[in-house]
Amino acid sequence: MPVSGLGPYDDANIFARILRGELPCRKVYEDDYALAFDDIAPQAPVHVLVIPKTPHVSFADFAATAPAETIAGFFAAVAKVAKQLGLEEPGYRILANMGHHAHQEVPHFHVHIFGGRKLGAMLA
Ligand code: AMP
Repeated sequence: MPVSGLGPYDDANIFARILRGELPCRKVYEDDYALAFDDIAPQAPVHVLVIPKTPHVSFADFAATAPAETIAGFFAAVAKVAKQLGLEEPGYRILANMGHHAHQEVPHFHVHIFGGRKLGAMLA
């Protein structure tokens, strides 16, 4: 049962289609737990999305229902992607929009990685 208020997981969402190879992406990283690719409308010089390979509509759903190994593997992948992109030293921001108030558009849990410049205030 989904816990995020976004409804049940919809297999036709854009990121599910990217995972199945039905839509292209500019892949940055992939392992057993995660796929990372460039955001199609970047809001920073580096703007990458990291998505789990499992069907979760949101962060809340992922945190509540994914196995611990899946959660650990996913967040380890987020850190690996940031490191691979050379963002550790200058720094970067990760962000996950969860639900309506946060303007979550795609109902497959994802983490944004922003970097490549000084990013300014948290919600600017
Ligand atoms: P959110 O508002 O957190 O759900 O963010 C969804 C993100 O997905 C936005 O930053 C979009 O630019 C991005 N996006 C939508 N479609 C694609 C796509 N086909 N490939 C890459 N990024 C996408």
